[in-house]
Amino acid sequence: MYHMLLVRYGEISLKGKNRRRFEDALIRQMKLSLGDLPYGTIRKTFGRIYVSVSPETWRQAVEAIGRVFGVVSISPVVQVPLDMDALRATALTLGRKAPAGTFKIETKRVNKQFPMRTPEINYDLGGYVVTNTDHLTVDVHNPDIVINVEIRHEGAYLFSESIPALGGLPVSTSGRGLLLLSGGIDSPVAGFLSMKRGVTLEGLHFHSYPFTSQRAQEKVEELAKLLTPYNTKVQMRLWLCQFTEIQKALQQNPYPDLKITLMRRFMLRIADALARQRGILALITGDNLGQVASQTMHSIHTINAVTNLPVLRPLVTMDKQEIIDISRRIGTYETSILPYEDCCTVFVPKNPATRPKIAAAEEAESHMDVAGLVAEALANTQSKVITANDDDDIF
Ligand code: ATP
Ligand code: MG
Repeated sequence: MYHMLLVRYGEISLKGKNRRRFEDALIRQMKLSLGDLPYGTIRKTFGRIYVSVSPETWRQAVEAIGRVFGVVSISPVVQVPLDMDALRATALTLGRKAPAGTFKIETKRVNKQFPMRTPEINYDLGGYVVTNTDHLTVDVHNPDIVINVEIRHEGAYLFSESIPALGGLPVSTSGRGLLLLSGGIDSPVAGFLSMKRGVTLEGLHFHSYPFTSQRAQEKVEELAKLLTPYNTKVQMRLWLCQFTEIQKALQQNPYPDLKITLMRRFMLRIADALARQRGILALITGDNLGQVASQTMHSIHTINAVTNLPVLRPLVTMDKQEIIDISRRIGTYETSILPYEDCCTVFVPKNPATRPKIAAAEEAESHMDVAGLVAEALANTQSKVITANDDDDIF
């Protein structure tokens, strides 16, 4: 029954001179998210966006726009001619759909040529709804639902529902970030939360094929795919780095307790170099303070020392359960818990250091050809553009 969606956006309306850029990014992403769904004009007025949609597919359109960061809420709207009978009938339909309780009519009369004034319209429609339903009474001060009526030049809009959306900032408005994407629960959530703040994501995964399986890599591609609906252009470039030689070199290293620290330092060095090649200004990880040995304050300090890029860690203060809740909500959890080993679980030492020092890491690395191993790994890094439907193009 709905012909249009009223899309509200919050924070981006505060952006002063940048507002236009934010709105354009929001609308661009909305169109991409709508994809093949039918939609008509998209109009911006007074901090809202109206999208005309097909009455057959409005629900899918709500879902698609609901995945666009920056959108705060969505109301499905019925458009009717400027005629009181049509207005009454539609107000009643919306009233009938509402649960038992109190309501009020709230009219905005933008079109001053409309013969009835705002209070008269409220009174007329409110009376009509009350007399034709059994479950609603009027409460103009604190109603359970509001039936909104907007009298415009091209017709009247009516809506009563407001569906909450994700909020945040439109992707592409905060630059690009390189997400270190493992097959675990945390990094996809870290990616999702970075996109929520407007970051365009590229992903980087380290694999140790043939020690890790093809399935493990497919799992990571699947996780990337689950994030694409939120990402700029609803796709993601995923970099796959052959980490095997580094793993082998680390096996030879005489400091097994530092292995995870050294491994992470290699990952960050490679990520740093790739980000610089790509003009990317920040790295993103799923690190969480204190969760495992490599995530103590000492470990983070020693690992972080190999890069000057900002490393964003959106999960740093969260409890595991909070992270799991988000991963369930965004649909990555079931894939994350698939049992395929990643490069760290295969090579993990028994007693990793929880207080590794930078000097100790540097000493251990002095026995390795760090620059050569990083250059070789970079040379063995390929990317794919992952889209929601088809991810077979190697670039
Ligand atoms: P996750 O659930 O994201 O794997 P975790 O709690 O298991 O995180 P670690 O395995 O210690 O923690 O990894 C910490 C972070 O390092 C990950 O969140 C991810 O950003 C990065 N990382 C770990 N392994 C890889 C990998 N194979 N490829 C890319 N990034 C990785
Ligand atoms: Mg992990």
